[in-house]
Parts: sequence; C-alpha cells; structure tokens
Amino acid sequence: MLELKNITKVYTKGDDRFPALDNVTLTVERGDFIAVVGPSGSGKSTLLHTVGGLNQPDNGQVLYDSEDVYKMHSRKANLYRRKSVGFVFQQFHLIPYLTVSENIKVALDEPGSRSQKINELLEKCAMSQLQNKYPSELSVGEKQRTAFIRAIISEPDILLADEPTGNLDPENSRVLMSLINDFNKNRGTVLLVSHEVETTSFANRVITLHSGKVINK
Ligand code: ADP
Ligand code: ADP
Repeated sequence: MLELKNITKVYTKGDDRFPALDNVTLTVERGDFIAVVGPSGSGKSTLLHTVGGLNQPDNGQVLYDSEDVYKMHSRKANLYRRKSVGFVFQQFHLIPYLTVSENIKVALDEPGSRSQKINELLEKCAMSQLQNKYPSELSVGEKQRTAFIRAIISEPDILLADEPTGNLDPENSRVLMSLINDFNKNRGTVLLVSHEVETTSFANRVITLHSGKVINK
C-alpha cells in the first residue's frame, strides 16, 4: 500500500549538511502496525512528516498505491493529506478557540456530515459529556482523545502518530494506545513514533532509526 524508496532528506546546520533521513527504504502493508523507534534526532518525526505528504524528500519516492505522493496534482495531494492519512502529535495541536466537536469537524469537508460517527467516537472515547468544552477546559488525556477522533473521523487508511503518549500519564497512555490498537484491528494501518517500550508492544514490526538510517527491519 505504501512504499518508501531510497528517501533522503538533507538539512543544513550552519555550514554542515547532514541527512535527517539517509536512503530509507520501507514497505508498509495494509493493516501493519509499525513502531518507529530510535534516539532523539534520529529522523523519526521527519520520516512521519515525509510519509504524510508534509515534507518533500530531496531524493527518493513515497508511493501510495503505486502513486508518488509528491508528484500528485495539488487536488489529489490535498485529498491524500486530508483523507488517506491522519495525524496525532505529542502536542495535540487543537485549535484553542474551537470546542471539542468543532475541533473534530475541522477534519471534515462538510461540518454537518458524519454526526452519527462523531457521536459514536465521542462515546467510545468517553468524551460525550465534553463535546462543547474548549481545549483549555480538558485534561491532557481528553485533549489527546479529541485529537485522535479528529485524526480518524475521515476514516484514513493510515494513522501517523508522533509520540502521542509523550505528554500523558500511564493511565491515559494505556487508554489512548488501546484506541489506536482498535483503529488498527478495525481497518487501519498505524505508524507510531515512540521511545516508550510499552507503546511498541502492539506493533507487528519495530523499525529502528539511527542518524537517519534504518538499522533493522
Ligand atoms: P526525531 O523525531 O528522531 O527526534 P527529527 O526527525 O525531529 O528526529 O530530526 C532529525 C534531525 O533533523 C535532527 O537533527 C533535527 O534537528 C533535524 N531537523 C528536523 N527538522 C528540521 C528542519 N526543519 N530544519 C533543520 N533541521 C531539522
Ligand atoms: P518532536 O521532538 O516532537 O519530534 P521537534 O522539537 O524535534 O519535535 O520538532 C518540532 C518541529 O521542528 C518539527 O516540525 C521539526 O521538523 C522542526 N525542527 C526540528 N529540529 C529543527 C531544526 N534544527 N531546525 C529547524 N526546525 C527543526
């Protein structure tokens, strides 16, 4: 479903040019749950952003159903970013002046659509009572569950999760990982960046990055 072929991304630090990703090749099958681990600065976030269509590589290709994500026409590229992939970040990235349900609807083309599905997910995530609250009124666990619903409401094929439990306590981490695991069991492919060993236990593959290189597969 998803193929990364010889991806290289070079950044400049002062006079230094260094690859954040160095010739990364990876095949992701539908239904995979892949954990991406490695030390800070090894290229994990860059890899996720590159898969998500947010960070054009200097070399190599990201193929989604055999089509190069960075060569799609803008309409199709937008569809890919809005419908094929969903993002969850460590820092939630909720819009502060929108309520929970408004934050979720940001991911929809028509704000009135999918209300049944939104209600089901709010229920499943224990957020039904909180749908008219603002992010500042939520606990960190509630914020991340809102971001999770926003990420999956358009039923993406691929969930890209960048340290999603990095700001959560163990109980909220467990709840979120169980939701991500359910997404994977139902239909979705998951790429999870993490350095917490517990969160990688759901993965069917663990990929280790070191200085932008995959050192195992
Ligand atoms: P990780 O997620 O494993 O911590 P990152 O992908 O965030 O690693 O970063 C890999 C390397 O690339 C780091 O050295 C980081 O500082 C650098 N880097 C990431 N994004 C940029 C950028 N936009 N500009 C310059 N350097 C960057
Ligand atoms: P995280 O640790 O959650 O992966 P980072 O702090 O590494 O987040 O990166 C946050 C954002 O800043 C990312 O979009 C990354 O690409 C960018 N970034 C990281 N390192 C650098 C850098 N040295 N110069 C410019 N941008 C960077």
